[in-house]
Amino acid sequence: MDLSTLTALRQPASRAELALAPGEAFLGGGSWLFSEPQVHLTGLVDLTALGWPATERAADGLSISATCTFAQLAALPRRPAWRAQPLLRQCCTALLGSFKVWNVATVGGNICLALAAGPMTSLAVALDATMVVWTPDGPERRVRAVDFVTGVQSTVLRPGEVLRSIDLPAAALRSRTAYRQIALSPLGRSGTLVIARLAEDGGFTVTVTGGTEHPELLTFTGIPTAAELETAVHGIDSWYTDAHGAPDWREAMTELLAEEARTELTNTALEAAS
Ligand SMILES: Cc1cc2nc3c(=O)[nH]c(=O)nc-3n(C[C@H](O)[C@H](O)[C@H](O)COP(=O)(O)OP(=O)(O)OC[C@H]3O[C@@H](n4cnc5c(N)ncnc54)[C@H](O)[C@@H]3O)c2cc1C
Repeated sequence: MDLSTLTALRQPASRAELALAPGEAFLGGGSWLFSEPQVHLTGLVDLTALGWPATERAADGLSISATCTFAQLAALPRRPAWRAQPLLRQCCTALLGSFKVWNVATVGGNICLALAAGPMTSLAVALDATMVVWTPDGPERRVRAVDFVTGVQSTVLRPGEVLRSIDLPAAALRSRTAYRQIALSPLGRSGTLVIARLAEDGGFTVTVTGGTEHPELLTFTGIPTAAELETAVHGIDSWYTDAHGAPDWREAMTELLAEEARTELTNTALEAAS
């Protein structure tokens, strides 16, 4: 939609030009910003003009630029050592937009928008990401992904801060993962999204998003029993309610999907050991 209060679109060429003037906001892909009125805004600062590479391989993993689109992330060439890599595409598919949305929506925009059903937040938390944040006064700060989104449309970002990248450690990328997602309708927004991860050292985590107001991370030293996992799921106290699901349904579906994911990873681990 047209944003009729906008009078300027800035295209910064460097970090120094990222300082926001009153009434300005950062623009990622614009798939949300241009989807509803933004009467408080008079200008946008287009982060894609900075030309950040979509992804960069680091010695200790993968760095995803905030401006990487869903389409770019889903198309990342396969690296066999990264057993968790299918999760990147799986999380992209949790956003049921058309190819038009996939080609503009950015990883950073999804995380900073912080909807409960933000699948890039799910991905980042499940793979133990570190969020690199550029502060307006110079230094950068690093935030664990699980701490970044604090509630529905609420993050730890302070005014003027930019999410620069999402850094995934190689150890997490080498983990085995199991992904489950459910929505009330075939093309509906996620009611709950569950990702289990079995690390090389035997550590086991379950990430719950979509069904909760902020990401929930359940951690275990090894694969839990079904009863232990059920107890942990019922210990979550941030079940979310909106048109995409009632809290009791979200809790029940999370319990079911978490157990499915636990069983899948148990079987995979047994097969790998035999
Ligand atoms: C059909 C359709 C389906 C959708 N389904 C979903 C869904 O299932 N789940 C979901 O979460 N969303 C959904 N959305 C909403 C939205 O498209 C996505 O969240 C998308 O990923 C937002 O990314 P963007 O780059 O387009 O963000 P933008 O619209 O550009 O920005 C979103 C917000 O983030 C801020 N921002 C952007 N980048 C940064 C940055 N690097 N640092 C700091 N702030 C930043 C912007 O100022 C703005 O406040 C859907 C939208 C459509 C049209």
